[in-house]
Amino acid sequence: MTKTQILKLIRAHCLDCCCNSIKEVQECPIVSCALHDLRFGKDPSRKKMNPEDAKTLGERLHKARTENKRTHTRTKNPAGSKLKGG
Ligand code: SF4
Repeated sequence: MTKTQILKLIRAHCLDCCCNSIKEVQECPIVSCALHDLRFGKDPSRKKMNPEDAKTLGERLHKARTENKRTHTRTKNPAGSKLKGG
């Protein structure tokens, strides 16, 4: 099980604990609960990226995706769609 899956399960558990009320989960007063820091389904220890780094990373990702589209364009099968041996 991945970390993301575990965090999603914790989120679902907290929603169940609060009768599916997002607001109640947000305002959960039980700080002694072991899941309190994880109730949003996100890793609280993960650092936020500064806006400049996020912008640079976004541009690199966009560039990589557009280049990937160019190199992975679909081409028609020159032999047609018939399979051999049939
Ligand atoms: S942190 Fe604990 S008490 Fe609060 S909603 Fe989640 S499970 Fe319930």
